[in-house]
Amino acid sequence: RVVAIGSVNIDRILRCPVLPAPGETVLAAGSAQGFGGKGANQAVAAAAMGAPTCLVARVGADPEGRAALADLRAAGVATDAVRTDPDAPTGLAVVLVDPAGENSIVVVPGANARLTGAEVAQALADLALTSADTVLTSGEVPEECIRATAAALPAGPRWIHNAAPAGVLPDWSGPGLRRPLLVANAVEAAQLTGRSADTAETTNETSETTDSTGDDSRDGTTTTAATTATALAALGDGAVVTLGAAGALVAAGGALHRVPAPEVAVVDTTGAGDVFCGALASRLAQGASLPEAAATAVAAGAFAVTALGARGALPRPTDLTGPAAR
Ligand code: ADP
Repeated sequence: RVVAIGSVNIDRILRCPVLPAPGETVLAAGSAQGFGGKGANQAVAAAAMGAPTCLVARVGADPEGRAALADLRAAGVATDAVRTDPDAPTGLAVVLVDPAGENSIVVVPGANARLTGAEVAQALADLALTSADTVLTSGEVPEECIRATAAALPAGPRWIHNAAPAGVLPDWSGPGLRRPLLVANAVEAAQLTGRSADTAETTNETSETTDSTGDDSRDGTTTTAATTATALAALGDGAVVTLGAAGALVAAGGALHRVPAPEVAVVDTTGAGDVFCGALASRLAQGASLPEAAATAVAAGAFAVTALGARGALPRPTDLTGPAAR
């Protein structure tokens, strides 16, 4: 079973000819509404990849919250631990996208900001976790929810924390606190380990070049990605750094493991990281080893970028057979 703890949002996507500059008004070419939020996206991806999945979250007592709950249930996610908050609206993300796919996003956290550490601890206690469970947290809920997880989790279940959006990691250095396997993209990993995002971008691009030529050489920049992954691993209990088209780097147990991504026709990379996290948790909950689960997660992320929207292409296990799954 996967237990996801995180945000639920309604995404309002506005297609703009250009992203508006401060003080400027632009006319959108169209708008669309979708379901989002890192917690919900990751839970839906975990369920699609076959693990029984439940979500711990808050939505508002509004039509958006009811629609989000119905969407989660339709996707096979158990919502018993999703509370309806009478005093806050359901989270909202307004996403402006230009024709080149560049975006600007404003998030109104709403009910997500009111998820409490006590509520998370209670939910984890009610779930009577065993070592067959994988707990998946992410950054769009208050930090106290992550700290509560560190304190409330028994030793058995695996814990993955997606450190996105990048911010400050909670302090889990105290006695009796669990540490998660950290998952971050290159930019987030660089920020969390005190490196400049520029270095991460360079590393990412160079890794892509290195990978596409099939050359696994340890040149200076590839080493930078490895150094970042190793540094991030030390902040948690291992780390997985996603590198876009270059796949992912797994740093755990003192070893580094590189997982190249298959070449795909990219349509929209929104939500690739969420599908990656959901698939990783799903496979770990089904008993896979970390390298096996990371290989599936990379294939799942690559599948996700082939359609528009955060939920455009949700892979099921049968979508990942063949070379992409290896
Ligand atoms: P985020 O979406 O959080 O910024 P990444 O861009 O690193 O994270 O993407 C997450 C995962 O999605 C990658 O590890 C990879 O599996 C897949 N992915 C992303 N972009 C591409 C791409 N251009 N080609 C193939 N796979 C991709």
